[in-house]
Amino acid sequence: QPAVEFHDVRFAYRRGKRAETTQVLNGVSFSVPARGLTAVVGPSGAGKTTMFQLIERFYAVDGGRVRLGGQNIEALPLDTVRGLVGYVQQDSAAMRGTIRENLTYAHPHAGEDALWEAVEMAGLTTVIAQLPHGLDTELGDQGSGLSGGQRQRLCIARTLLQQPAVMLLDEATSNLDSDSERDFRDVVRRVSRRCAVIAIAHRISTVIDADKIVVMEGGRVRATGVHHDLMERD
Ligand code: ADP
Ligand code: ADP
Repeated sequence: QPAVEFHDVRFAYRRGKRAETTQVLNGVSFSVPARGLTAVVGPSGAGKTTMFQLIERFYAVDGGRVRLGGQNIEALPLDTVRGLVGYVQQDSAAMRGTIRENLTYAHPHAGEDALWEAVEMAGLTTVIAQLPHGLDTELGDQGSGLSGGQRQRLCIARTLLQQPAVMLLDEATSNLDSDSERDFRDVVRRVSRRCAVIAIAHRISTVIDADKIVVMEGGRVRATGVHHDLMERD
């Protein structure tokens, strides 16, 4: 059973009373396996972020169908959709309070074991154990010495606590140095054994280890395949 399926999905943004429209998705079809990393690649404006917003039902489709775990997304309660889909936001700089507060933000009743399990999946056990107050260390403006990459992985740990069926990563590696990017990929690999991970990237070359690549352009799927099939198109 695929985690996500798009069947001939159409979507346009509408603005104002005269209903000017921007057609963004023009009959998009693809499926995302229940496990593994699926990368969505394409130039700016291709409709990648919009596609993510349809997966979390931030918008409804104009035509076609989105399925989550085999079910029509529009037949599912919104709470169920938001529980199944974990959206890791791009902006990891805006973190306040302690690490614990960041992790439990949407999961106030998460137990200590669940917290450390998420931290471990995100590859942060050692880093956090060495902080002066562990999970209760204030992040503050300087991030308590956590690097950008570590903060980003903290966002992944937070999303893991939700136990999503699908994790969405938006431009995940766009501002990481190569060491951080490697750590990030290791974490994504680990997470993708537990749930479907969908990552947005600008170029095919940055998603070399994806299990499946969906190439989008001009609101359509141009190709799907694995990295070596698509490399010459990059
Ligand atoms: P409203 O008319 O209700 O303000 P808009 O469609 O103008 O709604 O904007 C809604 C949100 O989408 C805003 O946050 C805006 O910044 C963003 N937005 C609007 N147009 C674009 C666009 N072409 N590309 C990306 N984001 C946009
Ligand atoms: P990508 O993530 O591939 O860069 P987007 O899904 O962000 O593409 O945007 C696809 C198209 O939709 C672009 O032309 C963008 O300007 C437009 N767009 C995105 N968000 C909005 C919005 N809220 N209102 C109107 N147009 C938007």
